[in-house]
Amino acid sequence: MQRRLMLTALALAPLAGCTGDVDILSPAAADQPQKPADAGTRAAATQPAKQSDKAMKSAAEKQNIEIIESEDEFNRLNAEERRVILNKGTERAYIGEYTDNEKKGTYICRRCNAALYRSDTKFHSGCGWPSFDDEIKGAVTRLPDIDGQRTEIVCTNCDGHLGHVFIGERFTAKNTRHCVNSISMKFIIDGEPLPPKLVLRSKVKGESPAVNP
Ligand SMILES: [Zn+2]
Repeated sequence: MQRRLMLTALALAPLAGCTGDVDILSPAAADQPQKPADAGTRAAATQPAKQSDKAMKSAAEKQNIEIIESEDEFNRLNAEERRVILNKGTERAYIGEYTDNEKKGTYICRRCNAALYRSDTKFHSGCGWPSFDDEIKGAVTRLPDIDGQRTEIVCTNCDGHLGHVFIGERFTAKNTRHCVNSISMKFIIDGEPLPPKLVLRSKVKGESPAVNP
């Protein structure tokens, strides 16, 4: 039984881990991870598979996550959005919807709704694209660009292309500029509810070797 408890806890861990951003957006959520995990592990001791799924669903709802089965269930993208987000294209400078947006709120991924940036990290760089000097923790992944020089940034949750990150330009104290295509994001003004983050079930389970040994 010890092993079962551990496996179930591990199975739930990635779900909590990939929402490291939630505590920033919703302080109440930060206090909750222990309770659903405990409830889930107790239940799993008697009816493993059924209760484990139920616990995962419950934890997902509490953290504003919707688990999806395939990439087809991500938000539908138009041709230009696909060109940038899926094929790593670049929106023309100075035409983006959010380049000069100064409203307070959260920038989420257009494809999967993951919260990527808060407005208080946005600054004017004059480069023609929205610029941020920090991401919401864990939301953005850095990859070597195929040009061999730049660093590409993608949404950690869905791998959608966001733009590039540049270090050492001294625009702000953090000395970092995330240069992001407006079309890769959607802005949710403070006071409006954030839509649930769409998380592929295969990604949740795939991150835990304990579930798929
Ligand atoms: Zn995404």
